Amino acid sequence: MITINSIKSGIVIDHIKAGHGIKIYNYLNLQDADFPTALIMNVTSTKNDKKDIIKIENVIDLDFKMLGLLDPNITVNIIENESIKEKKKLSLPERVENVIKCKNPRCITSIEKYVPHIFHLVDKEKGEYRCEYCDEIVTV
Ligand SMILES: [Zn+2]
Repeated sequence: MITINSIKSGIVIDHIKAGHGIKIYNYLNLQDADFPTALIMNVTSTKNDKKDIIKIENVIDLDFKMLGLLDPNITVNIIENESIKEKKKLSLPERVENVIKCKNPRCITSIEKYVPHIFHLVDKEKGEYRCEYCDEIVTV
């Protein structure tokens, strides 16, 4: 474990919805990492609600689309020499491919295995995506 306050260089994933930190931690396979990582849960944020934070003492490749889909409200801070070099606010991606699957049994993606599952964001607030082929709506 690394200290909660400081990180020399690496990544801090902040403003994760309380309880979702473990999901993102597992998605990034941080339990198998050979560098220091920390999952800090139920931190009281400035708005007086609870959040989770993940600290990674290493620079790793992050799939911002996938992270945005897991939790659109998170902020990713890239840390260099103990200061924030870049702050990235995530949001739901406009288009996702082979992440969500169409549930419509008559959809081409359900029939033909080679067809990629492509979805387009239709409602940011509700997290609704529309299938490119059959217009089926899926909520994430
Ligand atoms: Zn479909």
